[in-house]
Amino acid sequence: MNRFEPNLRIPGPTALPPSVRAAGARQMINHRGPEFAAMLDRILTRMKPYFGTTGDMAILSCAGTGGLEAAVVNVLSPGDRVLAVSIGAFGDRFAKIATTYGADVTKLAVEWGEAADPAEVRAALAAEPAPGYKAVFLTHNETSTGVMNPIPEIAAAIREVDDNALILVDSVSALGAVPFEMDAWGIDIVITGSQKAWMAAPGLAMVAASDRAWAAMETATMPRFYLDLHAHRDSHAKGQTPWTPALAVVYQVDEGLELMEREGATAVFARHETCAAAARAGLRALGFELFADQRFASRTVTAVRLPEGLDWKAFNDGVKRRGVILAGGQGKIAGHIFRLGHLGSVTLAEMLDAIGVIEEVSLEHDRPVEAGAALAAAQRAALEVMGALAPVKA
Ligand SMILES: *Cc1c(COP(=O)(O)O)cnc(C)c1O
Repeated sequence: MNRFEPNLRIPGPTALPPSVRAAGARQMINHRGPEFAAMLDRILTRMKPYFGTTGDMAILSCAGTGGLEAAVVNVLSPGDRVLAVSIGAFGDRFAKIATTYGADVTKLAVEWGEAADPAEVRAALAAEPAPGYKAVFLTHNETSTGVMNPIPEIAAAIREVDDNALILVDSVSALGAVPFEMDAWGIDIVITGSQKAWMAAPGLAMVAASDRAWAAMETATMPRFYLDLHAHRDSHAKGQTPWTPALAVVYQVDEGLELMEREGATAVFARHETCAAAARAGLRALGFELFADQRFASRTVTAVRLPEGLDWKAFNDGVKRRGVILAGGQGKIAGHIFRLGHLGSVTLAEMLDAIGVIEEVSLEHDRPVEAGAALAAAQRAALEVMGALAPVKA
């Protein structure tokens, strides 16, 4: 973020720290040599604690959607019953992949802006005749609505009625930014992507699987070749990937993890929480209604409703002209919301810059805004999260 570079506030791809960019420019190496093996080992070792697993994981060269597809085709067979809990556009996508490959999908569609209710998920599982669902799909952070599902509570509700269903979690836009404990919570597959919290370019999807999921892959019959997770696991054991990896992105993820290691996971999580608090408070002070049920507000992206009468195109042009890049809405809420991303390399300074710019443009558009109020609210909320300021009653 400076005069020459925009403040990229979309929920992925996220802005790259200078050392990550430099890493991506490095010369190629032999991906079947010892230097690559050491790098892969370092990445797996550093990434697993963010998944909360001691099990095996795979690094695939593809978009996050490829990671979702890998999860589906490796553990399912055509005709398998799946409960897809969808709270937005990405939940719908996960369900669609399974349908495309011939799974028998029942969608539990939650109103956009809401989180899934553990009791409702439990009831849906209880209503399914024996042998029950083969898998349940969950979205950890629904990037399209700014809602973060209570995954441990939902997983516990699933386990109350079903010990066998595989729980697959799309955490593409959350993992690395918020705590996750897949082993402790009984989750079977978790997917994330390099361009979200990992501060790298798009190009890698990371998939971790439980012992039960790895075993399920042995009998699952959906077609797969490029995304065969067993092929990846076998190859990773030899310090390689089965096919040529997106090497420049591997360099970047390695460097991103180095930065995260230096900062410390606790500080990384706290930084995201701080930035999220600033985003919510700032936008609210500007008179925008937050789209998500605030009990389940995302720590990586904030969505707000476009107020009646606001000329979004002109408004967004003003924001863009001042160097802040926001995201619009997706799917059925396109044209009704905008989103402010705060994940990856995000800093509080960048959030305050974004809020300040939105404030400036709001004033330009004669919105009923008091100059400086949003910045003050954002900073105060951030300081409260940092523990530097006692909470003030709203
Ligand atoms: C970004 C994202 C994905 C994957 O998107 P790609 O464009 O395929 O990388 C999947 N799920 C969620 C929740 C996401 O935010």
